[in-house]
Amino acid sequence: MTFALTDYDPYDFANRRHIGPSPDEMAQMLAVLGVDSLDALIAETVPAGIRQEQALDFGAPLSERDMLHRMRTVARKNKVLTSLIGMGYHATLTPPVILRNILENPAWYTAYTPYQPEISQGRLEALLNFQTMISDLTGLDIANASLLDEATAAAEAMTMAQRGAKSKAAGFFIDQNCHPQTIAVIRTRAEPLGIETIVGDPFRDLDPEAVFAAIFQYPGTYGHVHDFTEVIEKLHAARALGIIAADPLALCLLKSPGEMDADIAIGSTQRFGVPMGFGGPHAAYMACKDAFKRAMPGRLIGVSIDARGNKAYRLSLQTREQHIRREKATSNVCTAQALLAVMASMYGVYYGPDGLKAIAQSIHRKTVRLVRGLEELGFKVEPETFFDTVTVEVGALQGVILNAAVANGVNLRKVGTTRIGISCNEKTYGETVEAVWRAFGGDHLKYRDHDRPYRLPQACLRDTPYMTHPIFHMNRAEAEITRYMRRLADRDLALDRAMIPLGSCTMKLNATVEMLAVTWPEFAEIHPFAPDDQVQGYMELIDDLSAKLCDITGYDALSMQPNSGAQGEYAGLLTIRAFHKARGEGHRNVCLIPTSAHGTNPASAHMVGWEVVAVKSAENGDIDVEDFRAKAEKHAENLAGCMITYPSTHGVFEDTVREVCAITHRHGGQVYIDGANMNAMVGISKPGDIGGDVSHLNLHKTFCIPHGGGGPGMGPIGVKAHLAPYLPGHPHTGGQQGPVSAAPFGSPSILPISWAYILLMGGAGLTQATRVAILNANYIAKRLDGAYEVLFTNAGGRVAHECILDTRALDALAGVTVEDVAKRLIDCGFHAPTMSWPVPGTLMVEPTESEPKAELDRFIDAMLAIRAEADAIASGEMDRENNPLKNAPHTVEDLVGPWDRPYTREQACFPPGAFRVDKYWAPVNRVDNAYGDRNLVCTCPPMESYAEAAE
Ligand SMILES: *Cc1c(COP(=O)(O)O)cnc(C)c1O
Repeated sequence: MTFALTDYDPYDFANRRHIGPSPDEMAQMLAVLGVDSLDALIAETVPAGIRQEQALDFGAPLSERDMLHRMRTVARKNKVLTSLIGMGYHATLTPPVILRNILENPAWYTAYTPYQPEISQGRLEALLNFQTMISDLTGLDIANASLLDEATAAAEAMTMAQRGAKSKAAGFFIDQNCHPQTIAVIRTRAEPLGIETIVGDPFRDLDPEAVFAAIFQYPGTYGHVHDFTEVIEKLHAARALGIIAADPLALCLLKSPGEMDADIAIGSTQRFGVPMGFGGPHAAYMACKDAFKRAMPGRLIGVSIDARGNKAYRLSLQTREQHIRREKATSNVCTAQALLAVMASMYGVYYGPDGLKAIAQSIHRKTVRLVRGLEELGFKVEPETFFDTVTVEVGALQGVILNAAVANGVNLRKVGTTRIGISCNEKTYGETVEAVWRAFGGDHLKYRDHDRPYRLPQACLRDTPYMTHPIFHMNRAEAEITRYMRRLADRDLALDRAMIPLGSCTMKLNATVEMLAVTWPEFAEIHPFAPDDQVQGYMELIDDLSAKLCDITGYDALSMQPNSGAQGEYAGLLTIRAFHKARGEGHRNVCLIPTSAHGTNPASAHMVGWEVVAVKSAENGDIDVEDFRAKAEKHAENLAGCMITYPSTHGVFEDTVREVCAITHRHGGQVYIDGANMNAMVGISKPGDIGGDVSHLNLHKTFCIPHGGGGPGMGPIGVKAHLAPYLPGHPHTGGQQGPVSAAPFGSPSILPISWAYILLMGGAGLTQATRVAILNANYIAKRLDGAYEVLFTNAGGRVAHECILDTRALDALAGVTVEDVAKRLIDCGFHAPTMSWPVPGTLMVEPTESEPKAELDRFIDAMLAIRAEADAIASGEMDRENNPLKNAPHTVEDLVGPWDRPYTREQACFPPGAFRVDKYWAPVNRVDNAYGDRNLVCTCPPMESYAEAAE
């Protein structure tokens, strides 16, 4: 069998690791498709008019060994110093048991967002623990399961407060003691929405009548610990809301935001065992009073029941999930920081409230001793009472001391021109304190650990309990928590067990070798605001990765700041907005978006204050060009741009894309191409070449960063040269525009994954990955065609890298819904494809290039068997209600006790696709969604309910 593989050696090991089908399997698959080569298939699939002319060329692909060598060389250019800079980022000790069993464990990091609750009970429980911990620490009723970072959480809190407050004042007050990046991100968010921000001293400058809400930092960025009770009381009197940005570790010792009657609390859980990573990823939290729960952005885990009435977890208010909803979008948070929230929650489970308190006390005591030494040396230290952070007045000595500290291996914070900030952390030891003293000229001072001094403000001491739930009080033996984490992981179906064919989400291989560098200290233990000469390795990596991504996308400049795809959309639209403004066309505020767009698209447009005009889809699923043209003309005066996805969310390369871009440009708009589907384009077609001005890339889709059960992600944006001056800036690195994320480069510690992937694949390998992704999707479409209608193909009957299977015929025939199909797939050992998006009642299947033929065939067998079951129902052979589809998924519980169903246990549990020995057993039966929303419980249920469930 011969077939052409341009520039590609099929026996090259680098590509065989990543690309699922073997050369022989590919030949068989091509035969099924009736084409004689992959080239021929691509020619039938991708319109000639959008193909890139030059092949990607990044030199020869590196072997694993050579790539790691390259990675080491770059890593060594970062200098790992002890950072006492603070500002929301603190060194922390990741308990090795969490490092290995969560962060380095594919069972956790390769999972998807828990939309299918039956196969996600493990991570849902871990995230519920997170919510419970946060709700307890903050003293508020309800907490969500993570936001992107503290600064964006603060911005989200602002818009949430605007929706929730009775006050209709236009102002938002920001405590001047908030971290500078928090202030900057809030301002970026406020400006397009017409919210007026006022930065000042809450005790002097706050006029409650002028604002709908105010945010305070606790402890403040310079160390002050204030009681905000009275200020919040005044806000409430003016019908405005109070928000507190609180350090959760400090809350182990300090009065909670809830006790100050705050309405919302936000913050970062980074110091709960998650490495700083030069800025991320880590999980931000948000908690609020019960009254505001339905306005809360992000994901909320709740408790419901399954078909047997047993307790089961699920994502609550999922219909609300999408607040990302077109018309009423209030936030665009989609991918958040699930994996990091899980780590932080396990840190809480591991230490329990007493352990956390001991860590907080130890940090505080070290800070007190450090301060005493500085006072002995004659320095004036502020404030008088504090938790872990102080500011020292040093006058003209600032430069000398900062340099001396670095010479002693310690980074301190430069505050203004005459002060120095110091924040102690879990890794501050006696030697660290002595090194600081030496930098201040105290060579003779010796650290002693015998007394127990406290300098916490009396008015703010905490005397309320927290984390009282038994989950935080398990036996402290490592055996216990190891098995707990294993048990939870085993409840879930992640990529390490089966393919996850989720359309638009690109669940491809996250190769082990790509993951290794993430936890190297040279990447993990760097403070985001460390001096430039300590982060040269990071800069080299970011520069090289950016250059390669520009090459791949056809753009001229790239911003690594957005830390999710949706964040990239927001950043990209802000960039377009700033461009229009700079040209005196700031009035442009209409954005054309096809109705089939991902929910984050219109949500992001709303966030920059734009009006969304929906464009219809034609019969064949393409953008209706005439409708697009008519609307562009109608809004020509005010056209800001359009947001399109390519290939379309219907999984087809549209011939008309260049025309759509040209129409937009003709009317003065800019083109945003959503890059979520780049897995169908890399090496074949460039968004920047076909008319795009901006795109985001989901590095957690196309470029191998694992999904982590719902985050982390990275959503860098590429832009054409004319937009480059308007990319996000940052208080730490400069730039004219405001920042969209807390850290200058988003979540940089996961960038080595994408870089490693590109180095291992080379240009030809990346292109081959795209081609095989298209092959795999077309193979599934072809094999299932007939049993299911494949919606939306091009004129030649081909799909791009995903296909939409219509299950509505099964409903008409046999009352079998798309949900039944999805749940029955669990019995077969699969995660369901994307359900009912972009078309209700359908499944969107994206196998990716990483799946071998055997796994594709297993999926196909399962889908064909499901179709046969539906036929059996239609013909009356099977009962319409009591059948394997309606009762799916089946659990071990179903098998014990009497069996009274009109089908066998064998049929129930071992349908085609299911493994006999390695069968995946769902831990719960079908979860009742409505019940969970009616009875919203978002913290760990009391132990009695566990007992009930066990009965
Ligand atoms: C995944 C996706 C997004 C959002 O990306 P996040 O990283 O989840 O924020 C946007 N558009 C499309 C088409 C997507 O598939």
